[in-house]
Amino acid sequence: MEVTHLADTFFTRRLTAKGQPLLIAGPCSAETEEQVLATARSLQALGNIDLFRAGIWKPRTRPGSFEGMGKTALPWLQRVQQEIGLPVAIEVATPHHVEQALAHGIDVLWIGARTTVNPFAVQELADALAGTGVPVMVKNPVNPDVALWAGALERLERAGITNLAAIHRGFSTFAPSRYRNAPTWALPIELKTRFPHIPLICDPSHIGGRRDLLLPIAQKALDLDYDGLMIETHPDPDHALSDAEQQVTPQRLGEILSELKYRYRSSDNAEYLNKAEELRQKMDVADREIIEALARRMSLVEELAAYKKENNVKILQLDRWQEIFTSRAEWAGRVGVNEKFVEELYKLIHIESIRKQTEILNRPE
Ligand code: PEP
Ligand code: MN
Repeated sequence: MEVTHLADTFFTRRLTAKGQPLLIAGPCSAETEEQVLATARSLQALGNIDLFRAGIWKPRTRPGSFEGMGKTALPWLQRVQQEIGLPVAIEVATPHHVEQALAHGIDVLWIGARTTVNPFAVQELADALAGTGVPVMVKNPVNPDVALWAGALERLERAGITNLAAIHRGFSTFAPSRYRNAPTWALPIELKTRFPHIPLICDPSHIGGRRDLLLPIAQKALDLDYDGLMIETHPDPDHALSDAEQQVTPQRLGEILSELKYRYRSSDNAEYLNKAEELRQKMDVADREIIEALARRMSLVEELAAYKKENNVKILQLDRWQEIFTSRAEWAGRVGVNEKFVEELYKLIHIESIRKQTEILNRPE
């Protein structure tokens, strides 16, 4: 894998060395010493796992469910490092967690979705992590707010922590969804645009919330050029103490990883390169036509606004707008363009048209 745009960190050195996406796996929660060691042993046998994950302090929505084994589990993770040879990662939510993790030589820490939402908590963690050199992964906040996610990364960067990765675990939304946490792919892509030097890892387990969604979500992440995957694995998923429906056995993880298609950023094939170039040039032409059509449409809007002003007519005519909204989607459907997409596009065009008309109607004489 080409990783030239990424900073030189724990994560990117591994990525460069293996030339394949970073793979993080392990149980949602460390439950028993046997479960931790059995999972780690089977994962190590897969031969391509980079990092073992296990939650020991579990942020649960309601009290009374399994809240993790806490520091009792730290020596179990040390056995994973020493006897099985996998580096280990845990979630930290307080400076006290950081202190205990570091005292036990935990290799990598991550900040969970329920912590990233809180700038005070993130700042306290950044202060506790400053100067330790420990690699940190930051999950997206629970709510679909890319600025909070970016803000957490900035707080860590300002504390001098450069060994960073971001984890996309999906977002809570009110809208009904087949996912446990809607992926809303545009948000992680925006984060990647703002932090091109930070590897982006997808967590299909918490996005999907169901085993059968892991493969399609992971495939989409790889096709969107993610740098790695974090997938929850448990020797007996149905009886896991947390997130049972989304965990898979290490064996099933191995199958998923071999079913994934690992595609390239580009190709050396001259025929591919020529054809891609030709199609991109045609797209450039089509885009110019779209923009010119928009310019034409907007100058008609201006003309109409001037007439409305002369005749003292209001900007919004609801029936005209409804007619535009439905007819354009229909036209799109007839030529094989996604109707929902065209509806969204026309909402934007309508906002711009109202903005322009407001400006013209209220322009001083
Ligand atoms: C987890 O990784 O088990 C976890 C609690 O995830 P999140 O913070 O994404 O909910
Ligand atoms: Mn989990």
